[in-house]
Amino acid sequence: MSTYRDPTPLRAFGSGAKLGFARMGVPSRSGGTSGGSTRATMLRTVAARERRSHLTAPRVPTVGIDIGGTKVMAGAVDADGVILETVLAETPDKSKSPRVVEDTIVELVLDLSDRHDVHAVGIGAAGWVDGDRNRVLFAPHLNWRNEPLRDRISERLAVPVMVDNDANTAAWGEWRFGAGRGEDHLVMITLGTGIGGAILEDGRVKRGKYGVAGEFGHMQVVPGGHRCPCGNRGCWEQYSSGNALVREARELAAADSPVAYNIIERVKGSIPDITGPLITELAREGDAMCVELLQDIGQWLGVGLANLAAALDPSCFVIGGGVSAADDLLIGPARDAFRRHLTGRGYRPEARIARAQLGPQAGMVGAADLARLVARRFRRATRRRVERYARYERYAQVLGARSTPGAPR
Ligand SMILES: [Zn+2]
Repeated sequence: MSTYRDPTPLRAFGSGAKLGFARMGVPSRSGGTSGGSTRATMLRTVAARERRSHLTAPRVPTVGIDIGGTKVMAGAVDADGVILETVLAETPDKSKSPRVVEDTIVELVLDLSDRHDVHAVGIGAAGWVDGDRNRVLFAPHLNWRNEPLRDRISERLAVPVMVDNDANTAAWGEWRFGAGRGEDHLVMITLGTGIGGAILEDGRVKRGKYGVAGEFGHMQVVPGGHRCPCGNRGCWEQYSSGNALVREARELAAADSPVAYNIIERVKGSIPDITGPLITELAREGDAMCVELLQDIGQWLGVGLANLAAALDPSCFVIGGGVSAADDLLIGPARDAFRRHLTGRGYRPEARIARAQLGPQAGMVGAADLARLVARRFRRATRRRVERYARYERYAQVLGARSTPGAPR
């Protein structure tokens, strides 16, 4: 016990109260002149809002934006994941400055805000987003290098903005409203031109320390295999993606293989016209080569999933992206290969492998829903107030014009 006797009982009470705060884990604001600045308080509030769970997020409509390689899709989405309206724009060319992409985003949001209340904006971008989810470190389709996207957009639109990787937003969309509902350990794989990935655990996206977790496409599965644009060889996405599918089909067609006669005829000999959707279509019609190519992609998918199960042990894999349109032609072989390669097979529960349900809108819906975690409730009231003032102003102008003699009507 201290022998020091405090001269004022108030002070003693104060220090006791402080102790109470410390126990409750609430930072004390009476910390003298060194801390507790307004800025720090604001940052704490923003951080608290980011930590908000989807269960306590305000049930307000938000805008979700998906920035892909060819188009920017923006949609007003309500709290149940229902898309109220979608607007599209072309993705600005890679040579354009980051400002042009920002303009596109702002225009789309302003367009939607004419008809919908916008309480927050969520952006899913194909690229690496940093751990603070502010800066896009790198985007393969855009001229973004260490771009502070969140701050720029939120400054221009004056609403809270959330930025995340597009695979993360798609996974969130599928978990909230699609194939992953009710799963507490979910891994999403998007098979597009490459492979995107995301990890969701207990209702949180796992982004890693530096924000770039889930880049499964660049795990090496074949030593010394196909060269990947990332600089390495034998990456998973070189064997299981839309690009891999098209590359194999074109190779066979270029070699004038008899198995490729059907597809060569279909594109009238023009090999560059062979695309992923065409291969899927022919496979559905029963073309043996196309079925086989999808099987190969599916098998490699299963091998990769088994590796991921060894590392992450999820309860469910959701397979999305353009190639997943092939459905059972792809996912069937993936399930078989997964069972054959799963470590500890026969002695452990197997993860479910499901096809994504939200289609190309998953990223947009997920971005909008993640934005609700940073949304503010008072936007609607603020906007109404602004509108009312604008009305009063017009009214005052009209009155002023009438009361001025000789003023033009
Ligand atoms: Zn790679």
